[in-house]
Amino acid sequence: MATDPDCLFCKIVAGDVPSAVIHETATTIAFRDVEPQAPTHVLVIPRAHHHDVGALTAAEPSTMVELLNAVSAVAEQEGLGDGYRLVFNTGRAAHQLVLHVHAHVLGGRDLGWPPG
Ligand code: AMP
Repeated sequence: MATDPDCLFCKIVAGDVPSAVIHETATTIAFRDVEPQAPTHVLVIPRAHHHDVGALTAAEPSTMVELLNAVSAVAEQEGLGDGYRLVFNTGRAAHQLVLHVHAHVLGGRDLGWPPG
């Protein structure tokens, strides 16, 4: 499995940095964002290190499907039946700060559209 010793989210996967994990599969984990932007704000990530959604999809398409299934499971577990927003910040212009692909699952309020 691809891993990067300097990556914050690889350290969370390894258990070396604490996090509030709410869902796990063999290939993914989901944990609460430390700076929530909505009543529910969960990050769903692959255990393997890939920089962004395009890199993950190209390298491990089955893991991408498993990540999206994990998003659905998290949404159900968190009671987001009214809807949620799924965001993959990708690259500098989108302010992707952690270069380990992560899906932001945001919900629990009316999220508005378009986003700010
Ligand atoms: P992005 O800007 O898309 O790269 O988002 C990175 C997200 O990771 C931000 O929403 C941060 O609040 C979140 N974050 C940073 N460090 C941690 C951590 N140790 N545990 C949980 N979430 C974190």
